[in-house]
Amino acid sequence: MTLTRGLILLIALLGGVPQAGLAQETAIRIGVLSHRGDAATLRNWGPTADYLSSQMPGYHFTVVPLEFEEVEPAVAYRRVDFVLVNSGMYVDLEVRQGVSRIATLNNRHGEQSYNTFGGVLFTRIDRTDLATIESLRDQRFVAVNLHSLGGFQMQWREMQARGLDPWEDLAGIEFANTHDAVVRHVLAGDADFGAVRTNILERMIEDGDLARDSVRVIASLPTEGFPLEVSTRLYPEWPFAKTGATANALAQRVAVALMQMPHDHPASLSGRHAGWTVPLDYQAVHALFQELGIGPYGKPRFTFEDVISKYRGAFIAGGLMLGLLVLLSGWIAHLNRKLDEAKRGIQSRFELILEAVGDGVSGVDTNGTITFVNPEMVRLTGWTIDELIGRSQHDLLHHSHVDGRPYPKRDCPVGATFRENRQHHVDDEVFWRKDGSSFPVEYASAPLRDREGKVLGAVIVCRDISARKAAEEEQRRHLTEMAHVSRLSTMGEMASQIAHELNQPLSAITNYAGACMRRLQDDRADRDSLLEAMQLLSTQAHRAAQIVRQIRDFIRKRDPQRGPIEINALVGQTAQLVSVEAGRAGVDIDLDLAETLPSVNGIVIELEQVVVNLLRNAIEAVGHNPTDQRRITIRSTFNADDVIHIEVRDNGPGMDPTALSEAFTPFYTTKRSGMGLGLAISRRIVEAHGGRLWAEVEAGGGATFHIDLPSEVAEARDVA
Ligand code: ADP
Repeated sequence: MTLTRGLILLIALLGGVPQAGLAQETAIRIGVLSHRGDAATLRNWGPTADYLSSQMPGYHFTVVPLEFEEVEPAVAYRRVDFVLVNSGMYVDLEVRQGVSRIATLNNRHGEQSYNTFGGVLFTRIDRTDLATIESLRDQRFVAVNLHSLGGFQMQWREMQARGLDPWEDLAGIEFANTHDAVVRHVLAGDADFGAVRTNILERMIEDGDLARDSVRVIASLPTEGFPLEVSTRLYPEWPFAKTGATANALAQRVAVALMQMPHDHPASLSGRHAGWTVPLDYQAVHALFQELGIGPYGKPRFTFEDVISKYRGAFIAGGLMLGLLVLLSGWIAHLNRKLDEAKRGIQSRFELILEAVGDGVSGVDTNGTITFVNPEMVRLTGWTIDELIGRSQHDLLHHSHVDGRPYPKRDCPVGATFRENRQHHVDDEVFWRKDGSSFPVEYASAPLRDREGKVLGAVIVCRDISARKAAEEEQRRHLTEMAHVSRLSTMGEMASQIAHELNQPLSAITNYAGACMRRLQDDRADRDSLLEAMQLLSTQAHRAAQIVRQIRDFIRKRDPQRGPIEINALVGQTAQLVSVEAGRAGVDIDLDLAETLPSVNGIVIELEQVVVNLLRNAIEAVGHNPTDQRRITIRSTFNADDVIHIEVRDNGPGMDPTALSEAFTPFYTTKRSGMGLGLAISRRIVEAHGGRLWAEVEAGGGATFHIDLPSEVAEARDVA
């Protein structure tokens, strides 16, 4: 509804325009179907209202233009007292709203008046192919309105009579709402043919709104006495009708005034009609409605087409929205499918990875209950998936240490993982199998978190390290063997010095024993001197026994046992062992030992061997110096990193770059009778104790060999 028409309707509803001098007048509203637009309606029918006002003092008549859809509500809600609508709408209102006709319009064409009208089907003049109703099949149709009798319903009846269903057999129907708009659409080629009531085309030509010979009437019927071109049967012209609420007396006065209107009254001329006649019979319109099953004979109050026609814009927008929604939901469904596929893909890839991975993988919740396991975990433990899932990981797999001591749950690194929300890595523990046996494992336990970072449990990735352990064991055994052989060879080399060393106490023993025997034979033996001799004898025998014990300890191939080692004591004993050799070479070994040192966890005989090797090499190196310039120092220190440091320094010739880089390579030697194994074995021993062995050349000449060994304190902390 336009602003103007809204305003007019509002004024009409409020009782008309208040005018000076008309205060006593009763406002009478005539609702007129505005089938050619509001301006035309007011122009054509305003003079008739004025005529009635002039004929009936005390009443003021106004015209209220109504669109097709506004007519019935205006009657139902008594917004109008009289209606001037097309014959079809009148019949409908008659049945539904109780309106009654009081006059029928006499129309005019030139000088001829007529009171019937019909429908016209027309096309552009160049569309010669559209001559009959049958030829309209599959063409685009524009009509005035679903409720327009002359602008649609009459043509519909004729088409149906010729077997052409306008809803099914045409390319489409458009409703343009006014006759003029229908003509414009056809001319513009928006539609192939149109429907208007009789006299529209002629009047538009007359008014200069339509070029003569620009359109052609389709299926034009010869109608005797009817002055206009028509494509349908004829029906009675528009009636002037009173609503059910309008008083009969008033209606009679209006009817009389209308009948009395001269054919050439200005109001008739401006409306281009020829006054009014007695109301005609509208049976023909009833027949049309019956045949089409519309109007009062239609089932639905508002047909689907009505709704479509009225809310076309909303429908198109809704349709577009719906289409968009369908597209959108299709797209979302497509994305969802893709997402599902991707998820399934990830899931199956995840499962494949879990299956393929060579490590055991399991998940636990924050109670330590197993939530998932991979096939390797099943294989490693001997439990089935069903036996594992839902059970306590610790109770099932991790309950005891390798020696059978119980492993308290509170110490379990897996539990600590989700309690502390951090990863734990353990490289030497055991898991237990279903059959009661254990296997060594290295495992990492990482917290499992949701998107918000909340800890849900832990994922454990474990590896059976039996093979690695066996290899390490084998390496260890091999090292022990080699170390033993090396010690034997060292002893072999030291044999002459040791024999010499032993010789001294043995000769002393022999001497003391001989002296004792001589005194006893000569009866010169007194108790005190004998006791003194025996004391000396015993001391020498002890010394000899100590030497033998040291040698035996050094070369004994015993099962190497790890244990706490006091490094200073070890250095002292070693210096003692090589003291004979050092003494013979004229070398003093200076000890510069830290006052207190933490112990080292290791195998004493092996670390002794390392120091022996270093000292013997040093003795040999300083042998090149003049006898009074042969110095060897052993230092022990302890640094803040809990590492014990041992240095064996000599003032020998030092080492050239090749010797420095190759000295630890097996069989590298610069000595004629050397094996080149001492340093190689020593380095492996130190590394097997978690330490390092390296050499440096001193600026002032000589070489220093450095050993770093982790103290027991450091080892304990690393394990924790
Ligand atoms: P070997 O003593 O049988 O040669 P080692 O492995 O003990 O075997 O020593 C390898 C080599 O390292 C020696 O031949 C020597 O050249 C060098 N070397 C070892 N210690 C010293 C040292 N204190 N001073 C100089 N050179 C050394």
